[in-house]
Amino acid sequence: MGDGHLSETFPEIRDAVRRLCAKFPGEYWQRLDRERAYPTEFVTALTEAGFLSVLIPEEYDGSGLGLEAACAVLEEIHRSGSNGGACHAQMYTMGTLLKHGSEEQKREYLPKIASGELRLQAFGVTEPGAGTDTTRISTFAKDAGDHYVVNGQKIWISRAEHSDLMVLLCRTTPREEFAKPSDGMSVLLVDMRDAVGNGLTVRPVRTMLNHATTELFFDDLRVPKSALIGEEGKGFRYILSGMNAERILIASECIGDGRFFIDKASAYAKERNVFGRSIGENQGVQFPIARAYVQLSAAAEMVTKAARMFDAGETAGTEANMAKMLASEASWFAADMCIQTHGGFGFAEEYDVERKFRETRLYQVAPISTNLILSHVATHVLDLPKSF
Ligand SMILES: Cc1cc2nc3c(=O)[nH]c(=O)nc-3n(C[C@H](O)[C@H](O)[C@H](O)COP(=O)(O)OP(=O)(O)OC[C@H]3O[C@@H](n4cnc5c(N)ncnc54)[C@H](O)[C@@H]3O)c2cc1C
Repeated sequence: MGDGHLSETFPEIRDAVRRLCAKFPGEYWQRLDRERAYPTEFVTALTEAGFLSVLIPEEYDGSGLGLEAACAVLEEIHRSGSNGGACHAQMYTMGTLLKHGSEEQKREYLPKIASGELRLQAFGVTEPGAGTDTTRISTFAKDAGDHYVVNGQKIWISRAEHSDLMVLLCRTTPREEFAKPSDGMSVLLVDMRDAVGNGLTVRPVRTMLNHATTELFFDDLRVPKSALIGEEGKGFRYILSGMNAERILIASECIGDGRFFIDKASAYAKERNVFGRSIGENQGVQFPIARAYVQLSAAAEMVTKAARMFDAGETAGTEANMAKMLASEASWFAADMCIQTHGGFGFAEEYDVERKFRETRLYQVAPISTNLILSHVATHVLDLPKSF
C-alpha cells in the first residue's frame, strides 16, 4: 500500500516499531496461537525499547508523549502482523492511576511500570451478571477498617495471569442507595502478587483467539485501603476517561490490522497467476482491495481526530466511540476481503491471514460493542430517546 496516500505521523517511532516487530515473524505468532501462550519475549522487547511507557510523563521515567504517538506504536505492531493485545492495557489503565491516583501512588508505581519492573496489564470491569451495563456490577469491596474485603466475580479479564497489578472496578456502596446508578463504585489497584491464591482465583478462558483472557473469583480478598484510587464512590467516572483512551488505542490497532490485510492482499493479487494472468488484473479482485483501502483511510482520519482531541484535553467520548466503530468495521471488511483474495490459502495457518481474521473480529465486540456505540450516538449526539 502506498503510504504516501495515508498520513504517516511519527515516522521515527513507526520505523523503530517495525524493526522490532521484524524480529517476531509469523512463525512466532503462529506457535503462540497454537499453544495459546503469552508473547513474553515480545512484551519484554517492547518494554525495554520504551514503547509501552510512551504515555507515562517524563517525571515518572516515561517518554511523556501523547495518545497519538501511542496509536502510532500500536498501529505499526498490528500492521506488521504482531498483536498488541498482550500489552496494550498498560497504556490506558495507567491513565487511571496517573489522573486520579495520589502523588504517593504515582511515585511508587509509575517509574516501576515504565521500567518494566511492574506490569499493569489487567483491567477488571466486566461481570457475567452485568454485561455492558457496568452500573450493575456486584463485585463488592466491604469496608473493614484499614482494608477492604472483596467478594464477587469478573469475566473476560485479559492478561490477569501476566500482570502484577490490576485496576479493579467494584461497588463500595449498593446501587440502590444512590439516585445515580454510576455512583458508589470505586477503583482499587490490586496487587496480584499478593492476591492470587489468597482470596483471588484466576481461571483462563480459552477463546477463538490468543488473548490470555480469564475469569476471576473473589472470595474474601483483603485489599489494603492504600490501594484505593481517588475518592471512594467515584470510580466509574475515573475509568470513563480511560475507556476513551482505550477505544482510540484499539481503533489504531484496527487500522494496523486493516493495513496488514491490504498489504497482504495486494501482494498476493500481483503474484498469484490463474487463467494465465495475475488475479490482480481482474477488477473483481482489485475493487474489494481498493474499497478496503478507501474505508480504512476514512476510519484512520477519525482515529487521528479522536487522538488529537484527547491529547488536547477534550473529552472526545463521541469521537473515540466513532473511531472505534469505523476502524473495527474497516478492519473486518479488509479481513474478509483478504481471505477472499487468497482463496484456499487464506485458510492456511502459515499465511497469517486466518489468525489476523480471528483477531480483528474481536474489536466489534470488545472493549465496547457496536450497538452500544450506535446507542451513544443516537441518544447523546442525536438526542433520540433513551430506551434503557
Ligand atoms: C477476548 C475478550 C477480552 C476481553 N477483555 C476484557 C478485559 O480485559 N477487561 C474487561 O473488563 N472486559 C473485557 N472484555 C469484555 C468486553 O468488554 C465485553 O465482552 C464487551 O463490552 C461486551 O459486553 P458483554 O460481553 O457483556 O455483552 P452483553 O452486554 O451481554 O451484550 C451482548 C450483545 O447484546 C448487545 N446489546 C446489549 N444491550 C443492548 C442494547 N441495549 N441495545 C442494543 N444491543 C445491545 C451488545 O451490543 C452485544 O452485541 C473482553 C471480552 C473479550 C471477548
